[in-house]
Amino acid sequence: MVQQLAFATTLLAAAYFVRRRVLRIRANIRLGKAQTVGDNAADRWKNVVLVAFGQQKMFKKWVPAFFHFLIYAGFLIINLEVLEFVIDGLAGTHRIFAPMLGGFYTVLMNGFEFLAVAVLLACVVFLVRRNVLGLARFQSTDLNGWPRLDANLILVIEIVLMLAILTMNATDQLLQTRDSHYTPTGPLFFSSFLMPLFESMGTSALVGVERFAWWFHIIGILAFAVYVTYSKHLHIFLAFPNTYYAKLDPKGHINNMPVVTNEVKSMLGLTNGAASPPAEPGRFGAKDVNDLAWTNLMAAYSCTECGRCTAECPAHQTGKKLSPRKIMMDVRDRMEQVGESVAKGGPGLNDGKTLLGDYITKEEINACTSCNACVEACPVLINPLEIILELRRYQAMEESGAPAQWNSMFQNIETSFAPWKFPASDRFNWAKP
Ligand code: SF4
Ligand code: SF4
Repeated sequence: MVQQLAFATTLLAAAYFVRRRVLRIRANIRLGKAQTVGDNAADRWKNVVLVAFGQQKMFKKWVPAFFHFLIYAGFLIINLEVLEFVIDGLAGTHRIFAPMLGGFYTVLMNGFEFLAVAVLLACVVFLVRRNVLGLARFQSTDLNGWPRLDANLILVIEIVLMLAILTMNATDQLLQTRDSHYTPTGPLFFSSFLMPLFESMGTSALVGVERFAWWFHIIGILAFAVYVTYSKHLHIFLAFPNTYYAKLDPKGHINNMPVVTNEVKSMLGLTNGAASPPAEPGRFGAKDVNDLAWTNLMAAYSCTECGRCTAECPAHQTGKKLSPRKIMMDVRDRMEQVGESVAKGGPGLNDGKTLLGDYITKEEINACTSCNACVEACPVLINPLEIILELRRYQAMEESGAPAQWNSMFQNIETSFAPWKFPASDRFNWAKP
């Protein structure tokens, strides 16, 4: 009874912390501008199935994709076992499904053990790849501090959790031969290799180790559920809505502001007097997170910090101070700062800081060539360029702060309808024989 109460309390505490954090994340995402995205539902679901569920873009690099898939599949499938943990924990039973499922239970448990070993190996490979092989995108200063620790910590936690499953099963199998309380599971292949480590232990010590591994695993899973909401591993869940709400337009398409389009059409006499600009244009572009669309903010929480975007970025490759990964991390960090301030009754967005300036510098956004390489590279369909363009729009239109070289181009477009300084009538001279 004491164990059941302890279990129920642990479960409730985890649910409370997860709910609290999810509500905070939702409030932070709602800082963004409203945007209705619901067109082409079939294409959007296709993205969810292929890109989020099927990890289609990950498979552009087969080796990491294979190991990532092992962790992903292991995470999804092994967690089915948690259902049995929860029922056993609340009802005070032990392996409640074993008598019901008989031989199928043995097959299932062996499948879980196979996945546990696969996850364990994949995590070791990723730890080596991240810390020993020296891949540039993992050594980047973008990841200094918590992001690097977070990435390593999650791999270590997964290894420890998988070891706990195998230890629990090894000791359980030994106890099945000594204590009738332990329901027969049938032979479990991988954990049987650990059995010699525990064979010489007395029964009560063995029960202690088995119970410790059981509690360690379930508390670890619940702690992991809370931890994930503070980590880049939130992408496990948010990759799904993020791929659904991803932009479907061709990559070269840049969103216009309707108010500006109408103004230009009106100047060119293309409106037939029908279109009129909205009464209140609001701010041009984005200075802070509340000027971005909520989908941009959700994308920041979905970022896996993999750095594939930064590795492909030509500005970054040529030594410019631009990393699309850092852009996404900055958006998320700013949201977190504002959200925390609001939760504490502080000034929130009016804290004297802004995304552009305090987190992302003009030097960074001006280095972007708008090439879309980062968008193409992202395995979860994040679009850092959309954010960069909004920040640049603010800089150019609200602050008149575009670099001097750009201003002459703007002027030429305004007067000659082309970036170059010659009359509009000469625009097609290049095509003359
Ligand atoms: S669009 Fe900008 S940020 Fe993205 S890869 Fe190209 S230059 Fe880099
Ligand atoms: S934006 Fe995409 S590619 Fe870039 S770090 Fe995040 S998940 Fe990786």
